[in-house]
Amino acid sequence: MYDPFVDKTLNSQQPVVDSYWQSTTSSPSFSPLDSSKQVDVAIIGSGYTGLNCAINLAQQGVTDVAVVEANSIGWGCSSRNAGFVLPGSGRLSYQQLVDRFGQDNAKELHTQYMDAIDLVQSRVELISDKADKTENGYLKLAHSPNWFSKLSKSADYLANNFDYEVETFSKSEFQSQFVDHQKVYGAIRYKNGFGINPLKLVNQYTKMATELGVKLYSHSPVIDLEQSQNKGHKIITNQGEITANKVVVATNGYTPKGLNTPLANKILPVLTSVIVTRPLTVEELKAANFLSHQVMMDTRELKYYYRLLPDNRILFGGRSAISGKAASNPKYQQRLLNELKETFIGLEKVSIDYVWSGWISVAFDEMPHLFKTENDIYYATGYCGSGVSFSAWAGNELANLIVGKNTRSPLYSELPKFPFAPFRRIGQSLFYQYGRIKDAIG
Ligand SMILES: Cc1cc2nc3c(=O)[nH]c(=O)nc-3n(C[C@H](O)[C@H](O)[C@H](O)COP(=O)(O)OP(=O)(O)OC[C@H]3O[C@@H](n4cnc5c(N)ncnc54)[C@H](O)[C@@H]3O)c2cc1C
Repeated sequence: MYDPFVDKTLNSQQPVVDSYWQSTTSSPSFSPLDSSKQVDVAIIGSGYTGLNCAINLAQQGVTDVAVVEANSIGWGCSSRNAGFVLPGSGRLSYQQLVDRFGQDNAKELHTQYMDAIDLVQSRVELISDKADKTENGYLKLAHSPNWFSKLSKSADYLANNFDYEVETFSKSEFQSQFVDHQKVYGAIRYKNGFGINPLKLVNQYTKMATELGVKLYSHSPVIDLEQSQNKGHKIITNQGEITANKVVVATNGYTPKGLNTPLANKILPVLTSVIVTRPLTVEELKAANFLSHQVMMDTRELKYYYRLLPDNRILFGGRSAISGKAASNPKYQQRLLNELKETFIGLEKVSIDYVWSGWISVAFDEMPHLFKTENDIYYATGYCGSGVSFSAWAGNELANLIVGKNTRSPLYSELPKFPFAPFRRIGQSLFYQYGRIKDAIG
């Protein structure tokens, strides 16, 4: 498997992701870049960040925009995530945001989180089947009594300080109203989160971008990014090149080690895996008392996330191998299946139909960053596995920066370097060991 921590380049022959989402819809194809072009803005990477940046630029009249993608459009995280549209990004709680950024900036960030959800919601509304949007609700599940107390306090904190109403459910309320979960100690529900089919969302962004005149090039890995002799930049692929005044690096957790970008040594690509079961039978749904399609995630340091899909399969995700080389070890999908069976009653016979993994990006300070360098390279990255809503907002905001607007985002700052960057994976391995102990203690 491609491993951005190790591989110097990302080639264009990567396999199509064998995800459940690929079985639900087809995607348009595009030609590779095979000549020299000149554009105003070139965007590397066609996930939610890159596509939304292109859409917003075109909507503001900057139509001379090209998006260059190493594989098929949206091939990275955006086509293969779990489809949780979350009210937030990064890994910090609201209290931690206040501690780090101050109350006013945390409030501004809260507004941006809400705007991000509204943005995705408005785009989902344009799709005929609404990208299979679920009922509203993002459920955060306490995995210990201690965490239920923390969640309850955080619900009060959000209501008092951010005017953000979050519902609280005791263990028995949760089990009777949502699902008879065997490991839950209570939950809170963010009313504006929801689930979607992420590939259908990619297709919608692709449609919007092409209708607005953006040029998309697939299967065109960028192998070098050069400062141009005159002004601007040169993006070089195997078969072509683009000269552009401004460049957006929207490669996120898939950025290859050898690509000369401002992200080098500043993100940690982390693998997360998902299994999707066969559809549950009526008896199984009843045994587990599965009454809800709302998206759910637990409070563990090493989180599990899950949802009932429209055709009554369960999608169940969590941490995976540290390296791409180890990712095919069946123990990772088995761990997810074991956890699923321990979590829900009556699913002993359930089997896996789909399994896949993907690279999320984690910044050293555990929060996303958007930034413009002195030489007009723009980037947004570091969503830490919560980027379906926020990457769309960040892509939009990059477009605003490109047309010369200011940003109010507290996340506008240069990505910090990882100290001892070559040893990031040792740090990750130690963090996993710490997480296992912390999660066991509760
Ligand atoms: C299994 C999984 C489950 C997830 N679940 C959720 C979820 O439920 N909710 C949530 O909020 N977030 C989730 N995420 C994270 C979320 O999907 C991402 O934060 C989001 O999609 C990031 O979008 P992006 O456009 O920034 O990056 P990506 O979608 O990763 O796009 C980057 C693109 O850049 C391309 N690229 C890289 N290098 C080059 C190059 N040299 N030349 C050209 N192109 C290049 C890649 O091929 C890729 O398509 C999940 C991620 C994974 C992997």
